Amino acid sequence: MSFQNTLNFAQKLDADDALRKYRNEFHFPKVNGKEVIYFTGNSLGLQPKRTQKFIDGVMADWKNLAVEGHFYAEKPWWDYHERLAAPLAKVVGAKTKEVSVMNTLTVNLHLLMVSFYRPTKTRYKILCEEKAFPSDQYMFQSQVKWHGLDPDDAIVELKKRDGEHFWRTDDILKKIAEIGDGLALVLIGGVNYYSGQVFDMRTITAAGQSVGATVGWDLAHAVGNIDLKLNEWNVDFAAWCSYKYMNSGPGNASGIFVNEKYLDRKDIPRFEGWWGTKKNTRFLMKPEFDPMPNADAWQISNAPILSVAPYLASLEMFEEVGMKALIQKRNTLTAYLEYVLHEIDAETENSDFEIITPKERGCQLSVFLHGQGRPLFDYLMKNGVITDWREPNVIRLAPAPFYCSFVDMYRFGKILKQGICAQVNQ
Ligand SMILES: *Cc1c(COP(=O)(O)O)cnc(C)c1O
Repeated sequence: MSFQNTLNFAQKLDADDALRKYRNEFHFPKVNGKEVIYFTGNSLGLQPKRTQKFIDGVMADWKNLAVEGHFYAEKPWWDYHERLAAPLAKVVGAKTKEVSVMNTLTVNLHLLMVSFYRPTKTRYKILCEEKAFPSDQYMFQSQVKWHGLDPDDAIVELKKRDGEHFWRTDDILKKIAEIGDGLALVLIGGVNYYSGQVFDMRTITAAGQSVGATVGWDLAHAVGNIDLKLNEWNVDFAAWCSYKYMNSGPGNASGIFVNEKYLDRKDIPRFEGWWGTKKNTRFLMKPEFDPMPNADAWQISNAPILSVAPYLASLEMFEEVGMKALIQKRNTLTAYLEYVLHEIDAETENSDFEIITPKERGCQLSVFLHGQGRPLFDYLMKNGVITDWREPNVIRLAPAPFYCSFVDMYRFGKILKQGICAQVNQ
């Protein structure tokens, strides 16, 4: 499609947008009395208006029924989390039984590593990306140390080539082959949080498994953003948070995927608790653990209903819209943002924007601001553009297709240009 950087053109794209009514389903913060242009849905998604109703429902049941709410609430609490599995499975391309909701992301990755990182004397290496999200780095280091191993020896980081901002699949495959029999686990962020690069999960999963390793994915920046086919790709396990593109609220519950080949087995090492045992015998309070035949076997505690409820509200919206329509809009919206950036770059002399996100991308564009710096970022924030800043000189722009509009992209371009001119005049 050929674009134009005009209000008219952006308005026309909005008028043709099949998802345009969903913008009004979200609460937007305001700056200077105007709704913000929100580029940080990759960090914390906006609040859906319907979420309040889901939380109020739980609060009312608790108030009116107290303990009886476990079984007699409109949505009984004892199996409330099961309502999330089917719609969530669609979002990640899994079978319903392969998906569960529990805890938070880093906690879940730790718990999944208990099952799927089983180092031996000769096979103990973990392959991850260099400069992985800090929480993931701390997790790898502490897991390795907990097994009595040396992080410098056991953790292998995938490097990018000098001067490049992205990883090449060929380099990753070469590294996997090189470690070979020594490789126990591959665990990478499916979409890199810094650059927005989407990894070739199908190919990397197959390569890791071909040398005998298990392969897991941290999908924090992938879920609700890109097309996932975890079952078809034969991924061993994965986990994600729900507060980024999934719009479920700050620090909210995490989802996990466990490949069906590991389900309904008692021989899998796992940290266990009562919510992972079979439902029909759970309340007999028997001493033996009898695992649920699905990913719920990894559940330890009874579900935090007040955080699962907003996740259910969000999934209701994903169910209505579907990933296909979201991805379709995402592609046009992100391409339009890219176009506007190039236009403003061409119109201004003292700036040079380098989009470091490769063509394998979701909605995020990470932009290196050559010739500009922190003052431009501050100007954007003061003028109602909510974005984020990463060292050394990168802003990340993630126009979430659920609620961002084409006019937002146009308005952003205008504010960006004014910001650059304002720096010159200082
Ligand atoms: C956001 C994010 C996290 C956050 O972890 P929490 O346990 O939810 O605090 C972890 N890993 C990656 C790659 C992320 O992007």
